[in-house]
Amino acid sequence: MRSLNVAVLGATGSIGRQTLDVIDRNPQRFKLFGLTEGVRAANREAEHMIQGRSGEGDFDARVEAMVTDPRCDLVVVAIPGARALAPTLAALKAGKEVALATKEVLVMAGALVMKAAAAGRAQGAFPDKVGIRPIDSEHSAIWQCLWGEELKNVRRLVITSSGGPFWAHPEMDLDQVKVADALNHPRWSMGPKVTVDSATLMNKGLEVIEAHHLYRIPLDRITVCIHPQSVVHSLVEFIDGSFKAQLGRPDMRLPIAVALAYPDRLPDAVPPTAIRELSGLEFYDLDEKRFPSVGLARSAAMTGGGHPAVLNAANEEAVDAFLAGEIAFSRIIPTVERVLGAFEGGGETLDEILAADRWARGHIRENFGSVRPA
Ligand code: MG
Repeated sequence: MRSLNVAVLGATGSIGRQTLDVIDRNPQRFKLFGLTEGVRAANREAEHMIQGRSGEGDFDARVEAMVTDPRCDLVVVAIPGARALAPTLAALKAGKEVALATKEVLVMAGALVMKAAAAGRAQGAFPDKVGIRPIDSEHSAIWQCLWGEELKNVRRLVITSSGGPFWAHPEMDLDQVKVADALNHPRWSMGPKVTVDSATLMNKGLEVIEAHHLYRIPLDRITVCIHPQSVVHSLVEFIDGSFKAQLGRPDMRLPIAVALAYPDRLPDAVPPTAIRELSGLEFYDLDEKRFPSVGLARSAAMTGGGHPAVLNAANEEAVDAFLAGEIAFSRIIPTVERVLGAFEGGGETLDEILAADRWARGHIRENFGSVRPA
């Protein structure tokens, strides 16, 4: 078996660094083919070492050349936000396998991305082609549960959530939440934006949209449940009443290893877990009244077009405003809802989707006075 040439978009973030770790530990399987961002800090050598940022000089052209290079097998997309879209689409269209960590790619442009993945699967001789291999831990769990299964036998997907820092405190007044409270996540250690998304549960709303595109399951058959231990990473329920779940410690090296090695598994990708560590698992229904973000995301995706892109952009801006101390925690989701309500629609092509993203950001900035607390 020859080793796979892996390009990593975004070397300095936590997913990028852990991906490099998985590659380093399995030199017989993987060869680092290229890197973007934080190239010097990554301290590696590869065919393509692309310094700089999207929009600067020939950066975007060099990234496209790397991800479409005939020698490149697999592209790990670990750069945040809308700038991950163009290189993901280019890689998929060129028939590459994409290990995807960036939610926004599927949230903003799920239909376009899945179309590109299907076109890519039809070409080349790469064995076990799937197109997109999810790195998001919940989607990796669902993917693993679906191996060997037929879609017609799936009743529902259940995405688990730790509940974030506020779920277990129903007495807490969410108007009074401080930035430090929202950044205090009980299980996973992540960047501030994702951590606030975990506190509002918008993270789960985005994950419902992501799962809908990845697995072609209708939005109303994807639910979220609270599972404070974060051991079950998600579940699939089948039409016969059976469930499959994927369990493990919360450690992102596992979904990264699964995405890179598919359909094989890497020995000792994470330290072993004692079976007693998997005991005492609890599951609760999500209170969609207290946390309306999941319902809001689901309805934006049902409306379709540019609405999910607007949801995503408005949420990013509102979270930034909260982190800057400009709006209360409890205003984040109502602000997103108001921006969605003001959106006139449109958003089929990539350009239109990016325009919807820009419109949402402009709208929220122009109307900022009205979202600030009086
Ligand atoms: Mg996740």
